[in-house]
Amino acid sequence: RGDSASADRQVDSVCPYCGVGCQLTYHVKDDRILFVEGRNGPSNAGRLCVKGRFGFDYPNHHARLTRPLIRRAGVAKGMDPDFDPANPLTHFHEASWDEALDVAAKGLIALRDTHGPDALAGFGSAKCSNEEAWLFQKLVRTGFGSNHVDHCTRLCHASSVAALIECIGSGAVTASFMQALEADLVVLIGCNPEANHPVAATYFKQAAKRGTKIISLNPRGQTLGGYAHRTVRFTLGADVALLNAMLNVIVAERLYDADYIAAHTEGFEALKAHVAPITPETMSAVCGIAPDEIRDIARLYANAERAMIFWGMGVSQHTHGTDNVRCLISLALACGHVGKPGTGLHPLRGQNNVQGASDAGLIPMMLPDYQRVGDAQLRAAFEELWNTPLADKPGLTVVEIMDAILAGTICGMYIMGENPAMSDPDLDHARAALATLEHLVVQDIFVTETAQFADVILPASAWSEKDGTVTNTNRQVQMGRAAVPLPGEAKADWWITQEIARRFGLDWRYTHPREVFAEMGQGMGSLANISWDRLEREGSVTYPCPADDAPGLDVVFGDRFPTASGRARFSLAALLPPDEPVDDDYPTILTTGRQLEHWHTGSMTRRARVLDALEPSAVAMLAPGELQRLGLREGEMLTITTRRGHISLATRIDTALPDGMVFVPFCYSEAAANVLTNPALDPFGKIPEFKYAACRLSVPPPLAP
Ligand code: SF4
Repeated sequence: RGDSASADRQVDSVCPYCGVGCQLTYHVKDDRILFVEGRNGPSNAGRLCVKGRFGFDYPNHHARLTRPLIRRAGVAKGMDPDFDPANPLTHFHEASWDEALDVAAKGLIALRDTHGPDALAGFGSAKCSNEEAWLFQKLVRTGFGSNHVDHCTRLCHASSVAALIECIGSGAVTASFMQALEADLVVLIGCNPEANHPVAATYFKQAAKRGTKIISLNPRGQTLGGYAHRTVRFTLGADVALLNAMLNVIVAERLYDADYIAAHTEGFEALKAHVAPITPETMSAVCGIAPDEIRDIARLYANAERAMIFWGMGVSQHTHGTDNVRCLISLALACGHVGKPGTGLHPLRGQNNVQGASDAGLIPMMLPDYQRVGDAQLRAAFEELWNTPLADKPGLTVVEIMDAILAGTICGMYIMGENPAMSDPDLDHARAALATLEHLVVQDIFVTETAQFADVILPASAWSEKDGTVTNTNRQVQMGRAAVPLPGEAKADWWITQEIARRFGLDWRYTHPREVFAEMGQGMGSLANISWDRLEREGSVTYPCPADDAPGLDVVFGDRFPTASGRARFSLAALLPPDEPVDDDYPTILTTGRQLEHWHTGSMTRRARVLDALEPSAVAMLAPGELQRLGLREGEMLTITTRRGHISLATRIDTALPDGMVFVPFCYSEAAANVLTNPALDPFGKIPEFKYAACRLSVPPPLAP
């Protein structure tokens, strides 16, 4: 770390990691970032977590891609254990940009022309800017000719978005997390903000200090560092049982807000009938909580004057993830806890631009701003904007695309900044699919696990090297600025996508992301009154924004919901078991997630020196009793086996976990948790069940001398 005096310039930008969207300043000397400081942004007020503060040096890692690469003839696709990402020339040869772009585009065009538009698919990235997301989905829709475009939202909050759009007409949060400071009560369910949204967690703790009651509902027993007023460790997968039982109490004891329900909702009578038999007594054994505890939580939530619900992937990453969120929405609507300060529904979004990438249309069933591709009138507006006919059939989602590759219907892909060879469930299946592709173009900053399957690798830009906007979990559109130049021959992602588009015959002539943002404004009503110049001046503007000189709305839907009737809708959720319940052969629950120090598939944070030093190797976390049952001491190796594969990694004690469960972070390629996970999908959000798989724990045999 240096100090401000030793830097020759400061550049204001946004953290590249989580959806909190902390504003920061890069302190730069001789075109290298010396250190990072938090800035007074609306979602961080100067604060940063360890990732934002110390995870800035990964772009300088010695394995950084600086020249385009083309696979050498005869080298098989796949993850060769002898391959070194820092020395890719064993498997690839360097190429000029013209050569690499020509090979990349020609391969895709040939497959489209031979097999039709449905033979191609693209994954964009929530790690790229809004403008890059916009261009990527536009290329797939207008160049490839299909809607087979998706990104990591499919793996995190697709079920939340599905339920929110269905029930309240909008997939974004109804209030920022700063509104927790105005709430009397905050429910945190299926989330671990201390690890995954650390600066948001500081607001929750601040609220608790001011008297807000925090109720933490979590199968892993997270307590928000002791700030929770009540911690309820319920049975993993029993969200619908718990939440419907709470609704039963609210209905039976008439704790609901009848005036709000009459004025703003529809379907309450059906909900009343639905939850009538789902009493705390009947659900107690299912969710592992005493009936009186369910009653207490329901009463606390309903009787609070202002209450908010925050949730994470513990809610969404289930085959019944959409049902889980439907229940949360019903709770908020029944109690009138939406649309006022200190109330609301807030799915804590994962990546720094997963909200923006979704808004910009990196979704197979929706055009930008969640306009359904099958609606001719909505589609016509984009056909006019882009001056080309668009496909009306919804595209396939992330996991469905992998299945379609193995079924032989998709044979070419363009992947920008995503790493499905680490992030998809049932990795052997996903990797087999990637190896099957006839032509794969990967655009990234490292030779990721996915890039090891590529025919062409295009060296792209890290966050601190690009100008562009991002949208955080609070709907705040924020300005990111390049702090350092691109290394070697690496290029900005928007430039690369444009070059591919031109080779598809598209007449794209963007010279700067600001021109892309201006086009987005023409197609996205959500960006009304938010211009590039305004973002340059103000740094952050929340959407929706009523005027170009007014602040955006922190809390929405006080008067009406953006549905056809203007009312929100109660949606019923039936109790479903996990797709793969534990049994005698696989008696332990495997659940996966993130760690504070590492980010998703680890491609960035494992190359950041401080973060890698803090958490250098793969761990499996277990309750002390579980470790004792296995006859292991902390740090000794454990093998975890599911119906899809096995991994071995070191053990670590987590006293919050219940017996019968093991938690594994999914960022370690040497023990990739997703080898184990279940690809079964939620039927609505098409999100895999990352949070629950049946597994078997065993002690690996000692290594041969
Ligand atoms: Fe970055 Fe999220 Fe940490 Fe803020 S809380 S510094 S956005 S990782």
